Amino acid sequence: MEKIVLFDNKINCCGCGACVNVCPQKAIDMKEDECGFLYPRVDKKKCVGCKLCKKVCEYQNKMPQKQPVKVFAAVNKNESQLMNSASGGVFAAMAKLILESGGVVFGAALDFKNGHAIPHHIFIENEEELHRLQGSKYVQSSIGNTYVQAKKFLEQGRSVLFSGTPCQVAGLYGFLNKDYKNLITIDLICHGVPNAKFFDDYIQIENHRRRGKEVVGYSFRDKKKGWGMNGRIDIKDISGKIRKVYVPARVNSYNTLFLDGEIYRENCYECKYATRCRVGDLTIGDYWGIEQEHPELLGKYGFEEKKGISCILANSSKGILICERNSNMLQLNESTFSKVSNKNGQLKKPTQRKKSREEILKLYSKFGYEKIERWFRKKYKKQIITHFIYNKIPRSLRIKLKRIVKG
Ligand SMILES: Cc1cc2nc3c(=O)[nH]c(=O)nc-3n(C[C@H](O)[C@H](O)[C@H](O)COP(=O)(O)OP(=O)(O)OC[C@H]3O[C@@H](n4cnc5c(N)ncnc54)[C@H](O)[C@@H]3O)c2cc1C
Repeated sequence: MEKIVLFDNKINCCGCGACVNVCPQKAIDMKEDECGFLYPRVDKKKCVGCKLCKKVCEYQNKMPQKQPVKVFAAVNKNESQLMNSASGGVFAAMAKLILESGGVVFGAALDFKNGHAIPHHIFIENEEELHRLQGSKYVQSSIGNTYVQAKKFLEQGRSVLFSGTPCQVAGLYGFLNKDYKNLITIDLICHGVPNAKFFDDYIQIENHRRRGKEVVGYSFRDKKKGWGMNGRIDIKDISGKIRKVYVPARVNSYNTLFLDGEIYRENCYECKYATRCRVGDLTIGDYWGIEQEHPELLGKYGFEEKKGISCILANSSKGILICERNSNMLQLNESTFSKVSNKNGQLKKPTQRKKSREEILKLYSKFGYEKIERWFRKKYKKQIITHFIYNKIPRSLRIKLKRIVKG
């Protein structure tokens, strides 16, 4: 029997797990490499050589086909949904619509168990659980068997909304091998993903730092001080009380390495979905640069920038239809692809690979995250000190200083 080679080079595997989901023999599982990235592995004893795993690999077999037909700047009108979202809360509005019609919504949740972080795809069937899927988790989420679950719901005739990174949405289409009229997909504008082990090892540093207390939640985007990249960590003490600690992105090792694109999965630097051509019926992201592209939409009666603004690319008739059906929940304003992509480079090309990536991941695989933390504190010392000094300056003076610097 011919030996199945799932990928010849790591840049040809995005880790979506479509091959794992499709294998009738359950002969494929995901295994961590030396840095924690998950890759599929075939158990030769179980494999019967049917090659279904090769056929469903959308990442190797197909290019994205859809094109944005309509483009919007958008904000969720529901204040609490908006504040719990990373951008303008578009996902929550879309999810609510599907849930209200008796549908099922799939997306990434970040759960914590015994102080360990578990980023994984789940499905929800009611609005009470929507909070689990809200917010960006800047780490690769494990698909598990959600493609199998989504197919089951689709074949029962239920509406399914599936959201994820473009490669995860492509993985679903590859697995299904056809489109369904009751399926709507949302892909995110994505600049790349670090792996779950790396993130959890960082969380263990936080647990260790606060001996006796435990990390029970992590938000990568907290809007307490406005729409940006700062986060929040939730710590439970022995009495069970949870304290929410604000995490400025630039003094935090994991967030900084993520934002600088230093620790992504190998294929992210060659991502074929970092382009105008899209996979999902909808693409959503942050509307970065809206103050230059649409100053007329901001201000007293317009969008409140500090609460977050989304961009939506509607890439199919289904995508346009769901935007129209959502016009009572979303404040929608037409925009253009060129305006949205001006400050969102991931719609044009993948993140550039950093020279330091190999050094960082080598340190990590050899010595663990403690070494990364020390390396970070040394290398980014100036940035960390500047941040603390800057934050001692009263806010009003900071705004004045910003204006002077901007000229
Ligand atoms: C790894 C990653 C990189 C991103 N890079 C960019 C970027 O470069 N530019 C940009 O404009 N936007 C980027 N985004 C998207 C942005 O952060 C918001 O997620 C998006 O704008 C949706 O915001 P929202 O307010 O509508 O919904 P939110 O409630 O904030 O987001 C929820 C949605 O995000 C999905 N999601 C969250 N984490 C993950 C994950 N780890 N894997 C798969 N799906 C996930 C959920 O399934 C759900 O669909 C990125 C998101 C992720 C997860």
